[in-house]
Amino acid sequence: MATQKDIIDQAFPETLKILSDLINFQTVSGSSNLKLIEYCEKKLSKLGAISFKTFHDSKQQANLFSTINGKEKLNGGGIILSGHTDVVPASPKEWSSDPYVAREKDNKIYARGSCDMKGFIACTLAMAPYFAEQKLKKPVHFSYTYDEETSCLGAPVLIKELKKRNINYPICIIGEPTNMKAIHSHKGYYEYITYFTGLAGHASAPDKGVSAVEYAIRYCNKLMELRDELKKRKPKNSIFSPPYSTLQIGKINGGLFTNVIADQCTLNWEVRPVTPADGKFVTENIETYVKETLLPEMKKIYPKADIKKVVIGETIGFEKEEKSDAVNLVCNLTGDNSRGTVAFGTEAGLFQEIGISTVVCGPGSIEQAHTIDEYVTLDQLKLCLKMLVDLKERLTS
Ligand SMILES: [Zn+2]
Repeated sequence: MATQKDIIDQAFPETLKILSDLINFQTVSGSSNLKLIEYCEKKLSKLGAISFKTFHDSKQQANLFSTINGKEKLNGGGIILSGHTDVVPASPKEWSSDPYVAREKDNKIYARGSCDMKGFIACTLAMAPYFAEQKLKKPVHFSYTYDEETSCLGAPVLIKELKKRNINYPICIIGEPTNMKAIHSHKGYYEYITYFTGLAGHASAPDKGVSAVEYAIRYCNKLMELRDELKKRKPKNSIFSPPYSTLQIGKINGGLFTNVIADQCTLNWEVRPVTPADGKFVTENIETYVKETLLPEMKKIYPKADIKKVVIGETIGFEKEEKSDAVNLVCNLTGDNSRGTVAFGTEAGLFQEIGISTVVCGPGSIEQAHTIDEYVTLDQLKLCLKMLVDLKERLTS
């Protein structure tokens, strides 16, 4: 019988091959991931997996959910292995080599997505045949989503379908790069763009125009006030760093010239709430300020003036469970009992919200994610394979 080491040795070259294939698909968020999804679906269906897909309205992006029931047909239960298929953009000029071609050097694989998070997907696909040949007691599910990097647009479409199917999925492992450490919580991530429409005019007669830039500044000041309020709302015994919800204005864009009243301005800003109530607090307060103060003043001069806040994404936080089956499972599998929190958002809160015990644990470090010359180490990929081999033992015994 193959030992754990034998399986890792066999699955490792296949992992690298699959990773290299996955990297070749240029699945930048917002662009089509259909070819990558087709590649994964083919591999899994050859092993007898049963799959379904859910799509973005454009039909150019898909989530794949595939189940290997093993030799006995089983319904419900089991473990979900989840990863997002999209990557952040890369500008090839800045890279040492083509970001969409895997390059192995110094025991590392360099490429966009190698660490975040095609490395994890490659490990799960390379292990799939070993799950398929076993008499699994519980099924294993492969969940590959689109557009995570743009505020988790894909996962909610999948989650809605999972909820509709009303199957009980007890545990989900999300393989975002955590150096294979179990992560039990993170803050939410809410992203907005606010559009200001004013009335252009000559700067010598400011009362005849409506400056979109100046109203945007007042809006910013209100946000800064709310930011201070968020600090005061810090929960007792917060596990996060910083311990309170944060707010940041990342980009402001508007106006034409010094002597022209600006008719347009846009503001990109974000909130990272420690509780959903903090997210609501910001939204409600800024909307009241707009409705009761800014808009009436603007419309008095120009009835068509407007302020429109667009939600780019509101990814809910991932809350620490008192006793988490998922975190305990991963700690048992990896033999590493350290549990922590991270400063980046994931799809974890979305799975948790429908009652699935969830943990974030995957190969690579977030420090390399989204960077120029992103990489994952071979050791991290091996550790991930080891976790999956141990998981297979657990699902069969
Ligand atoms: Zn990621």
